[in-house]
Amino acid sequence: MSLSELYNRNEFVARHIGIDEADTRAMLAELGVASLADLVEQTVPADIRFGKKLALPDAVPEAEALAALKAVANKNVVNKSFIGLGYYPTLTPAVILRNVLENPGWYTAYTPYQAEIAQGRLEALLNYQQMVIDFTGLELANASLLDEATAAAEGMALARRASKVKGDRFFVDARVLPQTLDVLKTRAEYFGFELVLGHPEEAGNGDYFGALFQYPGENGEVIDLTPHIAAVKAKGGIAVVAADLMALALLKSPGEMGADVALGNTQRFGVPMGFGGPHAAYFAFRDDMKRAAPGRIIGVSVDAKGKPALRMALQTREQHIRREKANSNICTSQVLLANIAGFYAVYHGQAGVKRIATRIHRLAAVFAHAVKAAGFKLVAGRFFDTVQVELGAKADKVYADALAAGYNLRRVDGSILGVAFHEAASLDDLSRLIELFTGRAVDVAALDAETPDAIPDSLRRQTAYLTHPVFNTHHSEHEMLRYLKKLENKDLALNHSMISLGSCTMKLNATAEMIPITWPEFAEIHPFAPRDQVAGYLEMIDGLAEQLKAITGFDAISMQPNSGAQGEYAGLLAIRRYHAARGEGRRDVCLIPQSAHGTNPATAQMMGMKVVVVKCDASGNIDVEDLKAKTEEHADDLAALMLTYPSTHGVFEEAVREICELVHSHGGQVYMDGANLNAQVGLTRPADIGADVSHMNLHKTFCIPHGGGGPGMGPIGLKAHLAPFMANHVVAEVPGAQAGQSAVSAAPFGSASILPISYMYIAMMGADGMREATEAALLNANYVAKKLGEHYPVLYTGKNGRVAHECIIDLRPLKAESGVTEVDIAKRLMDYGFHAPTMSFPVAGTLMIEPTESESKAELDRFIAAMIAIREEVKKVQDGVWPADNNPLKNAPHSKADIGGEWDRPYSRDEAFFPLSYVLENKFWPSVNRIDDVYGDRNLVCSCPGMDEYV
Ligand SMILES: *Cc1c(COP(=O)(O)O)cnc(C)c1O
Repeated sequence: MSLSELYNRNEFVARHIGIDEADTRAMLAELGVASLADLVEQTVPADIRFGKKLALPDAVPEAEALAALKAVANKNVVNKSFIGLGYYPTLTPAVILRNVLENPGWYTAYTPYQAEIAQGRLEALLNYQQMVIDFTGLELANASLLDEATAAAEGMALARRASKVKGDRFFVDARVLPQTLDVLKTRAEYFGFELVLGHPEEAGNGDYFGALFQYPGENGEVIDLTPHIAAVKAKGGIAVVAADLMALALLKSPGEMGADVALGNTQRFGVPMGFGGPHAAYFAFRDDMKRAAPGRIIGVSVDAKGKPALRMALQTREQHIRREKANSNICTSQVLLANIAGFYAVYHGQAGVKRIATRIHRLAAVFAHAVKAAGFKLVAGRFFDTVQVELGAKADKVYADALAAGYNLRRVDGSILGVAFHEAASLDDLSRLIELFTGRAVDVAALDAETPDAIPDSLRRQTAYLTHPVFNTHHSEHEMLRYLKKLENKDLALNHSMISLGSCTMKLNATAEMIPITWPEFAEIHPFAPRDQVAGYLEMIDGLAEQLKAITGFDAISMQPNSGAQGEYAGLLAIRRYHAARGEGRRDVCLIPQSAHGTNPATAQMMGMKVVVVKCDASGNIDVEDLKAKTEEHADDLAALMLTYPSTHGVFEEAVREICELVHSHGGQVYMDGANLNAQVGLTRPADIGADVSHMNLHKTFCIPHGGGGPGMGPIGLKAHLAPFMANHVVAEVPGAQAGQSAVSAAPFGSASILPISYMYIAMMGADGMREATEAALLNANYVAKKLGEHYPVLYTGKNGRVAHECIIDLRPLKAESGVTEVDIAKRLMDYGFHAPTMSFPVAGTLMIEPTESESKAELDRFIAAMIAIREEVKKVQDGVWPADNNPLKNAPHSKADIGGEWDRPYSRDEAFFPLSYVLENKFWPSVNRIDDVYGDRNLVCSCPGMDEYV
């Protein structure tokens, strides 16, 4: 080998893809296919095949890619941020940083649908809910929403559902955060609501179905909202308060002021600003609103042994069941970040959080006192952390001097500057800021002694919070470390075994992809920092946009949506704006195939569209005749078709081009749900197939980890004619977006700090690696389908008998014959050390398996062996060897609680716990037995004391 050949430029590609050449040959032989090219030919319809090399650079090895990105990151300027507006520097406790944020045990888990192997993060989320309940003074909280602005929009929608007031007028506090107002405007327009802005005092003047107040206001002002809330409620309206969680450690809670709903950002509880995200938005509400509330709610139930156990409650409210009648389209949320915020409260406890909040307030109070003494006027005399100073003509100079000294302030207008204090601000920062404003050095200690608080007595918090033992136990680092580890051990994540959830693409989240997200140059940047300080971010984001354009064929990318469902919203928004701009605003029918994911109809409804369902035929494809009939019937008002490709049935439909042309010929646009893009990359492109706009779940195809249920990112690609209608941002303009296009997220580039993960992935794979990954994903799925097909029917295949990147196995015949259900099989897989595949989506009574390209043949074979062994167990039930109600399937999962005592089951302990030899090697112990969902929903308890009742 030559010296240059001794450098393996493709090493990462082989690390990301789980199968090597020998595996590939063996698996192709198993399928009776000569080559990967032949497999692609049999799988992907000829008329959509790309047939070219992607316009991406060649693969770059890990170390080199990291060094190159570091050079880009270094173009960001990490100033000290005092901008505020909902985003603050915070000190992530190092024990949480390393053991949660940087720990695959936490970040590679999936949404806790299989609750028995997710008790760790469910407990963390229960802590989070308890923390929110405590601070807000409300009865219930969810876990969690995407950002404060969309949470406010959800609050508005909830108010409409819960309000007794007829009509469509919603009151908004004029002191609301500007980005929140921007998102509210977008949502209100398509819900058909009218927003009325005013001072809180005016909230009682009209017949509003609800009102949103900001607490403290965007100008820092703290006022008692009690009378204004009462005025809204007296008329039957719903009072919603957007509140700063840290401020609530010192201020009277929204609940005590009478609010029905409280919401806000939890970012400053230990989650870096990250140029806008990801952060968890909290959302709390009255108990009687629980069925109308959006988002996931964690609740306490009992397991088969009567022990307390956690799981997601009231799921019948959610989009996967209620579809266009769902409360919200939210799917991926911000679990990892909610966990971090909850752990921050666990680690600091009541006294610690109170000290931090008090320190922040005292810094602000002393600063305000000093500038007032120097003769400046304050915009508000009562505040928590934000001081706005009227500087007149001096404003420019103070702003510039502060910048030169490394401080970012908020420029409110030509004469007013805002200074928002935070946990990371030091005494030195305080004296330097005072000097910058007053031109005088001060004795901070002396000032401190003479400065009163700036919170009115009537608004001082009198009620306790964080009183539960969990917040008052784990304060030493050892205790915290062990608590985190104890919870982590209860959860099955990708660092234990493959998670073959169909549609979710649980592929490798490579360490080299994760490393950049905690670099300060990415983590510690405010989303509204001056543009000349974020050149590195803009370069990285632009680079990722170019990569995604090459992969999808679109002309423009909007990075704003924080999840796939948000991408759907942003995409349908562009379609609606496009039709309206052409004078065809009447077009409001959205065609959605029967097999679509629940977010599709839920999103269409939020866009004020009429959902018309298109049938699927016996082989799972869109029924083209039915589509023809419906496009004709609605030709005059057809807005869009939402199409998932390959379909949620796991097949590349042959007729996809015809389907897109049909929609176009009737004046409609094609929205492609891009959740299955992992089957397309390098082989075909959404824009070439006929899509006009599509989202890309970066947490599926492009390696952002699922975080136990978020974060995610759902940027959209748009064809040129739709590009002018992508979301812009009122505070920080989006390059390339048109003026006046209101926002869909709180931050201009969504959760910008996790974009480096996808950027690194594409850079390290290169043009060929990206295509090879797709081919391996197809091979792995077809291999699993072939091997399992000998034991379970595979529901749908393409015309050559091939599946795409996932396959559905049908358990309904088995269930009819044996009484063993899909749930029994899912729970039994836990005893074998596996997370169940996607259950009952898109077809009830089935499992949808997506192995991804990152799994090795050895891991696939272990999973296949488990499924075959389970099939044999079912046979024993069928044959009467085991009773129908007492067998390893019905009793699954088996936890350590099953070990002790007398063993009186018709199967052995070994059969229960170690059914195959590999299990003994690497046993995963479910921490509880099977959970009773019905009990938990009948006796809804969503706070920590609920756990204690059983202990
Ligand atoms: C995951 C998924 C979505 C929703 O994406 P989120 O990022 O969870 O909001 C939509 N459609 C399909 C087919 C999906 O698999």
